Amino acid sequence: MTATPYSASGAMPKAGRGAADTGPRITAFETFATPLVGFVRLTTEDGAQGWGQVSTYNADITAQVFHRQVAPWALGRGIDALEEIVAEIPEREHKYPGTYLMRALAGLDTAAWDWRGKALGKPVAELLGGSAGEIRAYASSMRRDITPEAEAERMLRLRDAHGFDAFKVRVGAECGHDVDEWPGRTEAIVPAMRRAMGAGAALLVDGNSGFSPARAIEVGRMLEAEGYEHFEEPCRYWKLEETAEVARALDIDVAGGEQDWDLENWRRMIEMRAVDIVQPDILYLGGMTRSMQVARMGAEAGLPCTPHAANLSLVTLFTMHLMRALPLPGRYLEFSIEGPDYYPWQDELFVESPYDITDGRARVTDAPGWGVEIAPEWLSKSTYQKSEADA
Ligand SMILES: [Mg+2]
Repeated sequence: MTATPYSASGAMPKAGRGAADTGPRITAFETFATPLVGFVRLTTEDGAQGWGQVSTYNADITAQVFHRQVAPWALGRGIDALEEIVAEIPEREHKYPGTYLMRALAGLDTAAWDWRGKALGKPVAELLGGSAGEIRAYASSMRRDITPEAEAERMLRLRDAHGFDAFKVRVGAECGHDVDEWPGRTEAIVPAMRRAMGAGAALLVDGNSGFSPARAIEVGRMLEAEGYEHFEEPCRYWKLEETAEVARALDIDVAGGEQDWDLENWRRMIEMRAVDIVQPDILYLGGMTRSMQVARMGAEAGLPCTPHAANLSLVTLFTMHLMRALPLPGRYLEFSIEGPDYYPWQDELFVESPYDITDGRARVTDAPGWGVEIAPEWLSKSTYQKSEADA
């Protein structure tokens, strides 16, 4: 498919070229998508390629946004202009602010970083100023439909099998307005996890926008009494003042920001200290370039960055590279523990999985780019689309 962008005037917008447009010209973008996952392949005029990913979920819709509103602004540009292109697209598409544009932009950005890594023979972490190596991971539960006893039991199994020493469970209910998943679950799971995992374990919880400030502060006091160290998204995430009120009242670190895709909103959050830990999701936010910007903003204000990475598509690998390069990294990498029963689509995405936790740690290898290969069988079953530059 040739790019056919539409504008109000009906005129075909053209990507402009400027002083930053050095390096090989970007000549093609291909997407390989299912409703759940979408990969992007970028090709330059010399035939070199890089692989990236748009955000998971409604990835087929995101692929349409990608070809219509992202690819046209990058085709024909020099690969060195990536940072300029990433800054320009939200302005060119300013009538369409929101998550879909950023989910799509992330596909361009992450493919370009892989291209750069492969061109230089270095892992992306190194290009961002970091290095290959290990990252402490925390075992992250995605479930609330699980009893405190069953949750503690599987965390113990994971500790023994992989050496995890940090664990996150869910409290409240998603956008729950102070109504728990079932009555008393929060009061039960907080002490149950501490009893099961012992005094030395790092314990975290995620409220997923579940609480009012008053209830969040009450839950926070319970967490503090049990020595928890991370209270994520206590209040409705779009109510920055509510989260700020909770962060001010509590000693425990309040974390948040996974849904936030707007850099200006990030600036406000950091300025008002709505959170103690910033948690951008690389693929919701628009890629590595923008995530490094948020991490730097946080670091300048003294706030560490513990990105959100809730599944084992490429987002966790991107996060591993980012964490190895962050100016002020958080204590650990979020590592989803859910298996095929919860995420049946995760399997068979890669020729070789980049996700192995040993001694509680994940590893960024020194392979060029992301250091991973998408499985050809998976690609052959996905929906394919291509946008190409004019000759
Ligand atoms: Mg969360």
